[in-house]
Order: sequence, then structure tokens, then C-alpha cells
Amino acid sequence: MIWDSIKTISEYHAGLREKKFSVVEAITELYAYIEKRDTDVRAFLQLQKEGALKTAQSIDARIQAGESIGGLEGVPIAIKDNILVHGFSATASSHLLEPYTASYDATVIQKLKKAGAILIGKTNLDEFAMGSSTENSAFGATRNPHDITKVPGGSSGGSAAAVGAHMALGALGSDTGGSIRQPAALCGVVGLKPTYGAVSRYGVISLASSLDQVGPFARTVADAAHIFQVIAGADVHDATSHAHDVSSITQFNQSQARSRTIGVVDEYLHEQGMSPEVSTAMQKALQRFEDAGYTIKHISLPHVKYALSCYYIILPAEASSNLARYDGLRYASQTTNHKPQTKNLLQTYLDTRGKGFGDEVRRRILLGTFVLSSGYYDAYYAKAQKVRRLIQSDFLKAFKDVDVIFAPTAPSPAFSFGEKTQDPLTMYLEDMFTIPVNLAGLPAISIPVDSAYDRNHMPVGFQLIGKPWGEYDILNIGHDYEINLRN
Ligand code: GLN
Repeated sequence: MIWDSIKTISEYHAGLREKKFSVVEAITELYAYIEKRDTDVRAFLQLQKEGALKTAQSIDARIQAGESIGGLEGVPIAIKDNILVHGFSATASSHLLEPYTASYDATVIQKLKKAGAILIGKTNLDEFAMGSSTENSAFGATRNPHDITKVPGGSSGGSAAAVGAHMALGALGSDTGGSIRQPAALCGVVGLKPTYGAVSRYGVISLASSLDQVGPFARTVADAAHIFQVIAGADVHDATSHAHDVSSITQFNQSQARSRTIGVVDEYLHEQGMSPEVSTAMQKALQRFEDAGYTIKHISLPHVKYALSCYYIILPAEASSNLARYDGLRYASQTTNHKPQTKNLLQTYLDTRGKGFGDEVRRRILLGTFVLSSGYYDAYYAKAQKVRRLIQSDFLKAFKDVDVIFAPTAPSPAFSFGEKTQDPLTMYLEDMFTIPVNLAGLPAISIPVDSAYDRNHMPVGFQLIGKPWGEYDILNIGHDYEINLRN
């Protein structure tokens, strides 16, 4: 079998170059595997086999003609279903967008296509990317590939599970408060949340515009770096995007990595919400860095304890405004089964939004409109913005002493279905270590502490948080860990 021996993009490209298999053969075999495996995992909402095979054929023709292959040519990539791919639905796992077909490609999709990637399908998520387990998807939850009785994390649970179950070599997700890193940790894969502005958000269904970033999932740090290199860059369609040189981001250098100082957050060491498994895994990972000669320094982030409260004011505020566009006139087709029984305009809004949105989405819209209302704006929203600034300056101050910051990704390994759905606050706590990074606009990567898993040993991930535009350092150090320090 072609895929049994392939873990990375470079192994796959080597196989193609040596003509051990063609792209068509590899992709055909992959779909056959997905059709079996995904009946359990349920990572995909939609497969794009026809288009994928067409792209595969054209790449094969180029290889036949003696052209060299590079970039992401022929590489199967899964796409979170809140990212627009021309001609395909983009549901954001909401009934409200079920009949919507994207009329253009998101910038990240244009870039993937240009690099020759094969878009194999759209993956499941929590509705409008609100959640940490995919249990908020209107189309049913995705399951963790290492134990299908457990959640894959969220909101990009489908993308993480697709890579974790070897149904794709890479995937795209979006991370507003942890939605790439937390599911990456729970599914035992690498997930990168870039610096705010490093990747265009054009064509990505907005959740909270000041926090959202698109980033890659992969089996290795090198592959995540490779995909990031392709999707990064300034975009005229996204005024918050910035150009930054990523040309040497995949050129890893061990001695440079080991000259770096790693900060350990005092406030996180004794965090009560952290499970014993995660705490032990963090000590293990840190010890490996220390043994390899990294300088470790303790730092303090005194305001991170307010991050969750601050996030759950800013996010709902921005989400309530972003989601106001789903009014039943512009996106939902009049032929859907939740067709509004139109009496007047207000009734159309009420019918569409009342039936189209799930509980969590409605909860956040209520919260958001409340904190933005004239009587409460200053007390909540304006105050949260000030706290956000304090959190940002905590990080910037810490980065005067250290180059990267080490932290857990999630407080516990994958949990069971239903375990955290009764009380939304328990679910919100899943992101206590990831949210501060989004509030500060920083890059961070989640890397599996160990490399092998089974039902009794579920994955745990650690984060490396970088300075603004410090993707190279976190990738370079992460790569050293993965190649040289991990068992
Ligand atoms: N789980 C967090 C939330 O529910 C993060 C979501 C995300 O990053 N998209 O808001």
C-alpha cells in the first residue's frame, strides 16, 4: 500500500520522483481508505473526489513530461468547512449555511491551488467555529481517531482528525481562541496558529475578526512550516494582513535553536485545572529541552488569569456583529427546509436565525449584543479591551528575557462525548492556555509530547509561543524537539 510508508510531504514527493506511484494512484488509494476510515471518524462533511483526481492527472502529466515537482504538488490537504472553495458548499457546520455555495476561492485556497495541492474535502467543525469538541456541529460530532469514544477537540476537530487518522497529509483550520492548537493536541498532530495578520482571512467565514487566523495541521513540524510558507503573505483583500519574509522558514538549524531561551510561565505550572497526565507530560517535555542544553527561565504573565473572561466578552461582541449578516435574505436559500414562513421582514429574520443557529451560537450572539449595548459597553466591552492590552504587554515584557514561551496546549487529553456539554463554562476552560495567545496576536504551535498513542495513552501537546512574527523560532525549536528530543 502506497500510504503505509508515507508520513511526510517530502517522503511523498520522493516516492513520486522515483516513480514508485503516480499522483492518481496515491489519491485513488487515499479515497478508498477515507471511505472506510471516515465512517468511524467522521472528519469530512464533503469529499471532492472528482476535482481531486483531475488535479492529480494534470500533475502526473507534468511529471511524465519530465518536469520537476515541488511546493505542495499532489499533496492531499483537507479544508475546514468555514473556508471558501469555489463551487463547493461552505457550511461552517451550521444549518443556516447548508444551502450556500461559495462563489470564489479564499486567498489561502488560491495559494494552495497554485502550489499544486489537492483539496480532498471539507472538514467538520463546531458551528461557526464556536466550541472545543465539534459537538456543536449541526451535522454531528467528529470522533478522535485514537479512541472514537472521545472528542477530537475543536473547533477544527475535523481537520485535526483527518490528519491524525492519516486521511490527509495536511489540513487547514482556523484559530480564534485555540481551534487549531487544541484539536492538534488532542489528536496527536502538529498545529500552527500564525501571528495575527500573517495569513489572509479573505474568504474565511468570520468569527471574531480581531482574533481569527488560518493555519496548518500536519504530521510533522517541517510539513506545517511548508504549508504555512505557501499560505502566508499580504493580501489586498485583507487590510489586516502583512507581508513578512518566510522564504527561509523551512531551513532548520539546530545550533541556532539551542541558543534560544525558553520561558516557563509560573502561573501555568500550578494551574489547578490541569490534569495529572498533562502536568506529567509537560515536565517530561521540559526536561528534554533542558537536557538538550536549552536555557530555561521562569517568567510571569500576571494578567493571563483574566484572559478567558476577557475573551468571552470580546469574542461574542465581534461574533454578534459578524453573524448579523445571516438574515435569511442573502445566504440562506428560500428553498431550504427551514424556509421562513414569511409574514414580514422581522418574521423572516426571526425564523431564519431562530431555526438556523444552534444553541451555542445563539448564546454568544445574546452575550455579544448585551456587552455592546449602550448601558454596558463601557463596563464590559471597553474594559475587556483594556485587559487585552495588559495581557499583550505581559507577553511583550516577558519576551525581553526569553525567545519563546513553553506552555501546555490543553488542560487535559481528549475527553468523552457529553462530558463538557452540560455546562458551557467547563467547555470554555479547554482554551485557558491558548486564548491569551490570540488576545496578544502571537504565533504559537502545538506539538505532540510523544509520538505513539493508543486507547490507553491519548495524545498530549505542548505549545511554543513566539514573539510577533517569530514563527521561525517556534518552528525551528519544535523541529529540534520532534527530530532529536522526542523518543
Ligand atoms: N473554543 C474556543 C471558542 O469556542 C475557540 C474557538 C476558535 O478558536 N475558533 O471560542
